Amino acid sequence: MAGLRLPIESHVLQAFVSEGLKPVIDSVITFGMGHFYISQSDKGGLVFGGDIDGYNSYARRGGLAMVEHVFEQGVSMLPGLSRSKVLRAWGGVMDMSMDGSPIIDRTPVGNLYLNAGWCYGGFKATPASGFCFAHLIAKGEPHPAARAMRLDRFERGFQVDETGNGPQPNLH
Ligand SMILES: Cc1cc2nc3c(=O)[nH]c(=O)nc-3n(C[C@H](O)[C@H](O)[C@H](O)COP(=O)(O)OP(=O)(O)OC[C@H]3O[C@@H](n4cnc5c(N)ncnc54)[C@H](O)[C@@H]3O)c2cc1C
Repeated sequence: MAGLRLPIESHVLQAFVSEGLKPVIDSVITFGMGHFYISQSDKGGLVFGGDIDGYNSYARRGGLAMVEHVFEQGVSMLPGLSRSKVLRAWGGVMDMSMDGSPIIDRTPVGNLYLNAGWCYGGFKATPASGFCFAHLIAKGEPHPAARAMRLDRFERGFQVDETGNGPQPNLH
């Protein structure tokens, strides 16, 4: 409706929850080389996930190949995970940017601002992202921490590719 084309693609990310277990993990553990994360909920379920499925979709369900891949990552980090039963899984839509980093910027449309492209990390970044977004709107200039998160960085060749994976959403 605003007439904008955004450098963002919709991808599926799956999440998994195991049966309730006695306390075994008291923090979030991530496995960067394999891309896996896990924590334990107050009810005892292990909550975990890994890579996006890797294709564009608005369907909130994922493929079995990625289920197997995520479980392999998990068992290689925590072998005991293979003995717990998974109760449920679901898929959600990820707003994947081309370089894996978000966009916090004004748009070419007057008074329309953009805070999007958070990929896997929008929840945990909420306080900082909200702070930087409010700064931009109130002062009319980007907060120093968000100065590189520009909408036009993709056409100008100034990607913020923190993992050095390349210019495709399914690589991040
Ligand atoms: C399975 C899964 C696990 C995740 N785990 C984590 C995690 O552990 N930690 C973490 O930090 N992040 C995680 N994320 C990522 C996090 O959910 C997102 O980064 C975050 O929700 C992005 O917030 P947002 O407000 O930018 O966008 P969204 O939450 O996607 O909100 C966009 C809103 O816009 C609405 N909308 C879309 N089109 C229109 C339209 N045309 N008109 C009006 N409204 C519209 C949508 O309905 C939606 O409510 C996970 C995501 C998934 C799918």
